[in-house]
Amino acid sequence: MLVLKFGGTSVGSADAIAQTISVIANAKAKDPHSVVVTSAMSGVTDLLVNSARAAAAGQRQPFLDAREVLFEKHLTAARELIDSEEERAHYEQHISEQLEFFSRLCSSINVLGELTPRGLDVVSGLGERMSAPLLAAALRARGVDAAWVDAAEIVVTDDNFGEAAPLLGPTCARAQSRLNSMLDEGVTPVVTGFVGATESGVPTTLGRGGSDFSAAILGSCLSVDEIQIWTDVNGILSADPRIAPQARTLKQLSYNEAAELAYFGAKVLHPKTLLPAIERGIPVRILNTFNPDGPSTVITKDPLKNGLVKAISAIRDLTLINVEGRGMMGVPGIAARTFRAVADVRANVLMISQASSEQSICFVVRRSRSEEVQRALETEFERELERHYIDRIRPQHDVVIIAVVGTGMRGTPGIAGRLFSALGEAGVNVIALAQGSSESNISLVVSHEDMTLAVQAIHRAFFQNRHVPTPQLV
Ligand code: ASP
Ligand code: MG
Repeated sequence: MLVLKFGGTSVGSADAIAQTISVIANAKAKDPHSVVVTSAMSGVTDLLVNSARAAAAGQRQPFLDAREVLFEKHLTAARELIDSEEERAHYEQHISEQLEFFSRLCSSINVLGELTPRGLDVVSGLGERMSAPLLAAALRARGVDAAWVDAAEIVVTDDNFGEAAPLLGPTCARAQSRLNSMLDEGVTPVVTGFVGATESGVPTTLGRGGSDFSAAILGSCLSVDEIQIWTDVNGILSADPRIAPQARTLKQLSYNEAAELAYFGAKVLHPKTLLPAIERGIPVRILNTFNPDGPSTVITKDPLKNGLVKAISAIRDLTLINVEGRGMMGVPGIAARTFRAVADVRANVLMISQASSEQSICFVVRRSRSEEVQRALETEFERELERHYIDRIRPQHDVVIIAVVGTGMRGTPGIAGRLFSALGEAGVNVIALAQGSSESNISLVVSHEDMTLAVQAIHRAFFQNRHVPTPQLV
């Protein structure tokens, strides 16, 4: 059995949906027991969310416009894909109802002048409730017996609106009874991604990009052989090809490597998405709907001993903050106070490094949060700054974290040496660095100007060098 999940671009237009249908038909020919999970058509969730926000801020026009746009977008695709007049009328009726509901919701939000996370989940989940019936009807038009399923009837979650966590016990019981009986009758379920409901039936969402999570949850409940994430790129690449044109698709990654890469900004699956799959050791494969026979990447439990460095990722728009001062040496509590102050303004720290001389602590936050963080630290250390125990809180903007990820680095000597000679030869200045004790990731901070040079140099050193074991690329 397989779960096939299609992202927004795979159902973004009639042409894309036609492509998606051929992928599903091919999969079904090999394994008739396939469950489909779909995202909203591309751009739809953003439009829904923005309209609701604007409504809360007093603007009615955005949701009135969105209603028209969404009607046209779905109906245009439906006209091309659904031949039967009856089916088309049925779908049109469904869309009209959903959009009528959307408009009433936004109206209420507008009157209240307030948008709660609970209200937003009702609005943002509508996209999948419009795309799933479209895909199911389009499948039927091509002779594939399919029916859409609202995941609110299957995926039971807690009430952490906007980022709800699934309750696997009740979810799996429902998934098995509902989906298996459809499959037994030869019907392909097309399940809405992203959405769920609490035990008492209040609609929730699993967080932005949550359709991948839906696929992993259902795949785990049904103990499928593979969870396939169909997207618009050829799997996971060794680096961003816009930065390093030599980048290639990786054949295999471990769950751990995929999680490290996601953390460091690569457009990979969110680590929590992988959890249900990890627990059952189910492989997750990433494929391209628009190049179905092209390269793909499989994420599995057992890393084949394949290569040292698997991938290089870069996160931009960051600021390195230095807390510097000779008077900090041996004073306990500076680090604790620093990070408490950062936590108090709810800024996320992406990387930390402290030299053993203890004369400075530096860490990286998003550029957009840096001013707030700096102010918080200046307040926290007002006395120390006055007495020059701490000389200054110094931000350095426009830096990039480059993360070099690979479980094969673990216990292999000489990686850092190779890395730094490559960067040295390329003339790249490394501003700070950190290595997690898992040894499957080395992160370095360089200035934004050096990013391209640095990524290319590292890629050359680890992927285009005969003397280095390289991972399998396709
Ligand atoms: N449609 C949702 C979003 O845009 C979920 C998804 O695409 O995975 O966030
Ligand atoms: Mg997505």
